[in-house]
Amino acid sequence: MNIPILTLKGQYKTIKKEVNRAVRKVMDRQIFALGEELSSLEEEVAGYCGTKYAVGCASGTDAIVLALRAAGVGPGDEAITVPFTFFSSAEAISLVGAKPVFTDIDPRTYTMDPAQIEKKITGRTKAIIPVHLYGQCADMDPIIRIAGKRGLKVIEDCAQAFGAGYKNRKSGSMGDMGALSFFPSKNLGAYGEAGMVVTDDKKFADTVRMLRVHGSAVRYMHSMVGYNSRLDEMQAAVLRVKMRYIDRWLEARRRNAQYYNDHLRDLPVTLPSVGEYNVHTYHQYVLKTETADLKRIMKFLTDGGIETRTYYPVPLHLQECYKGLGYKRGDFKFSEEASLSTCAFAVYPELKKKEMDYIISRLRKFFNSR
Ligand SMILES: *Cc1c(COP(=O)(O)O)cnc(C)c1O
Repeated sequence: MNIPILTLKGQYKTIKKEVNRAVRKVMDRQIFALGEELSSLEEEVAGYCGTKYAVGCASGTDAIVLALRAAGVGPGDEAITVPFTFFSSAEAISLVGAKPVFTDIDPRTYTMDPAQIEKKITGRTKAIIPVHLYGQCADMDPIIRIAGKRGLKVIEDCAQAFGAGYKNRKSGSMGDMGALSFFPSKNLGAYGEAGMVVTDDKKFADTVRMLRVHGSAVRYMHSMVGYNSRLDEMQAAVLRVKMRYIDRWLEARRRNAQYYNDHLRDLPVTLPSVGEYNVHTYHQYVLKTETADLKRIMKFLTDGGIETRTYYPVPLHLQECYKGLGYKRGDFKFSEEASLSTCAFAVYPELKKKEMDYIISRLRKFFNSR
């Protein structure tokens, strides 16, 4: 068997007719930017997330950049995020001219540990960016409480967690703004690049709407220097079709994760842990092993045709481009440990039972043969 960590072919088959029809409609209309598909998608996503506003942009990375700019974060400021995440969470902070300040994760959920945040706050701190890693929300209430007390803005990095729940709320609806990514591999994926900012704050929404078209609200009039960051009509049309299926797909991810949990429980590995208030969406299904075992387990799976990856093998405080920030190995124990002891394999909605059974049997064989 050959099981890639993700393939979108099976999903496309189930929605091919609808997607092709939707794309053809855009072709017939010949309106490609800021048209009716986008405004409808924005309404639908805002409704789904439970926010008043949603503003589409060109990527999830841009969504964080635009949100930071709207929050007034810029040169001389600091923003706090975790080092155990995809690069964009920190990159966006650097891109607006501010300084990323890292704080460690909770080793159980791999999301920001609220107890560590306060000692990272300085007079320059303007924002906190919790990351809803692998599809579950960071523990938002204490984060929002700290931010409120210290006058900081909270921007949720929801790139991996579209549709995730926290105490009856949806990811993106809890902070001042939520940054969504519709990169093809995410929970809700376009057929190219796309992202969105969701918020309840009209001023933030209006500013992001301006920033995405060169800081302009009235054509050829520029009240600020912005970006070219539109979500195009073709992507919006695809995403609108997929919105009709998203809850079914997230349910399938949860079902698959539960199946793995049920059949791997007795092995000497740490299964994904779900925070008390969370509805996980399993963007990734991630196992933690003894650090000494990780490479051998991953090789054993690879040799069996099962693709496996560590998200993420080098925490951001140890990246070459951030040498200047002055961090060193040992600064963030749990992020570093996770980068050396975790691996993910397929959990996508269309995965077949016999494929999961094969992955399970391969893992069982690894431990039985020792
Ligand atoms: C994918 C991702 C992003 C960036 O999204 P793009 O749409 O690829 O720009 C940001 N943060 C996290 C945690 C991600 O996984």
